[in-house]
Amino acid sequence: MAQEDWALFLDFDGTLVDIVERPEAVAVDPNLPEILASLEARLGGALAIISGRPIAFLDQHLGTRRFDMAGLHGLEHRIEGDLFLCDPDDHPRLREMVERLEEILRSRPGILIEDKGCSVAIHWRLAPIEREFVHSVVHSALEALGSDYRVQFGKAVAEILPSAAGKGKVIEKFLQYSPYHGRRPIFVGDDLTDENGFKMVNALGGFSVRIGTGETVARERLGSPADLRHALARWAVQGAFPFQENH
Ligand SMILES: [Mg+2]
Repeated sequence: MAQEDWALFLDFDGTLVDIVERPEAVAVDPNLPEILASLEARLGGALAIISGRPIAFLDQHLGTRRFDMAGLHGLEHRIEGDLFLCDPDDHPRLREMVERLEEILRSRPGILIEDKGCSVAIHWRLAPIEREFVHSVVHSALEALGSDYRVQFGKAVAEILPSAAGKGKVIEKFLQYSPYHGRRPIFVGDDLTDENGFKMVNALGGFSVRIGTGETVARERLGSPADLRHALARWAVQGAFPFQENH
């Protein structure tokens, strides 16, 4: 297949950059923005970052280029400069719950609450012993919130978010718009939150790649974010398609 027929969707944390202990302390390879910009040009613009982070956070770490993105697991997105944001005021019950969670979890050292406005992530990477406690707190929170919200587990993180959010759904949405429309999707991710995106691109006849270990429906694996950056740089510069279709 000609490489201009691909649409490339990339997760951020653990995929393009290494996972760090504190979510705000992300370290981006200084060459990454340029690699992404070159590849975006090669793909006719069909490259987007699909992350659980807010778009504003991703922008701060990817230089001055305003890449196409989906943030907050698809609750917000930007295609060709048109930005669709999620409004926290549309989620009053979640806002109340964030306040309650902050009260409940304030006294537990090592648990970090990442308030993203329309979702809230609770991290226990610094305190693995708190895993069960966080699970029970999240379970109670969801009982109170009802079916409009769900939990998404990741690596030492549980995130409460609107049920409508999901990486698979937002990838499908991107594929309805130019320059993505009619292209074959590739999604690269590293975590449980990405499995739903892998399923979607598999169902659409696309290509899924999981970084690192763990059970997955992805059709290909790469070892680390550094391996992926290397592969993407080669694709951008030499035009060498970096994945093997062996399944
Ligand atoms: Mg990730």
